[in-house]
Amino acid sequence: MTKVLYNNNIQDEVLKNKKIGIIGYGSQGHAHALNLKESGFDVVVGLRKGKSWDKAVEDGVQVETVAEATKQADLVMVLLPDELQPKIYEESIKPNLEAGNILAFAHGFNIHFSQIVPPANVDVFLVAPKGPGHLVRRTFEEGAGVPALYGIYQDYSGQATELALAYAKGVGAGRAGILETTFQEETETDLFGEQAVLCGGITSLIKAGFETLTEAGYQPEVAYFECLHETKLIVDLLYEGGLETMRDSISDTAKWGDFVSGPRVVNADTKARMKDVLTDIQDGTFAKGWILENQANRPQFNAINARENNHQIETVGRELRELMPFVKKAANKKKDGVPN
Ligand code: NDP
Ligand code: MG
Ligand code: MG
Repeated sequence: MTKVLYNNNIQDEVLKNKKIGIIGYGSQGHAHALNLKESGFDVVVGLRKGKSWDKAVEDGVQVETVAEATKQADLVMVLLPDELQPKIYEESIKPNLEAGNILAFAHGFNIHFSQIVPPANVDVFLVAPKGPGHLVRRTFEEGAGVPALYGIYQDYSGQATELALAYAKGVGAGRAGILETTFQEETETDLFGEQAVLCGGITSLIKAGFETLTEAGYQPEVAYFECLHETKLIVDLLYEGGLETMRDSISDTAKWGDFVSGPRVVNADTKARMKDVLTDIQDGTFAKGWILENQANRPQFNAINARENNHQIETVGRELRELMPFVKKAANKKKDGVPN
């Protein structure tokens, strides 16, 4: 099994005399900034005036513009939305980076797909918590943490690994486990996971099931419960104990149906198309499409988004969730940001 590092394997002195700039104060940003500060590090947050700025001030952290925070910091962690990073990097971060500084990310996309090309005289690493920002913060406050991946892209100082591990420990990941990766592996697996399984795969599966039932004349409300609502119960069991625990908790009829019908729905053909999706990620086709889509002001993204929000499973779901206050409460915690 791959090596997993914990707090007692990590020396964090190497980061103690450095100022850490956290650029962005959203899902990940607020968690990194507050956890690092409470771990005893010197933190400055870089932002524009707005919602996050007010929140950071309220939380008692030092807040500056992105340019000023970069200037003051030795280590700059970029926690802006991925699609905005290249522009903000060019305008406000790059001109204020000094030789020997450290540039860090929580996701490899912009470095791996060359949207940000760092100077040769800085360290570049990633520390990617494998969990939503609010959980990174909450578990830290509870004395625990969220596991993280770390990877080195550029080791100018010769200390990039030590620095990345010290950073990961500072955000609390050393309490849960830290695994080594590369920018390439983190980027490609993250994109694949969210496209083929976690987001794209699951929403398409749910919709196909819902449509099959409603087209056969069953009530949309019943189809909603069967195909969407109950997924949470199943996913919680998968999370706790894998396929076996989930299958041990359902009836044997459900388990038999799982065995004989699951592979008829998700079959070799589906897997071949997953492979196509992976190829598009690996050869840059997906990245190029998403970068161009953003440059064009997202015409397709917005059109699909509007159409999807009007699907019958959504209109029926909105009505049903109104009648389930316990479900609405969970929804208010929103912007977990996972998968990122
Ligand atoms: P969010 O969208 O939650 O937060 C973005 C932050 O950037 C906000 O504080 C926003 O402030 C600020 N911002 C936006 N535009 C500007 C600007 N022009 N100038 C200054 N600040 C700006 O991002 P996430 O935390 O979701 O993602 C950050 C990074 O972390 C990404 O690389 C993502 O892939 C990665 N990641 C995210 C995870 C997650 O849980 N969400 C998990 C693992 C990695 P404002 O209020 O002013 O808009
Ligand atoms: Mg992810
Ligand atoms: Mg992602």
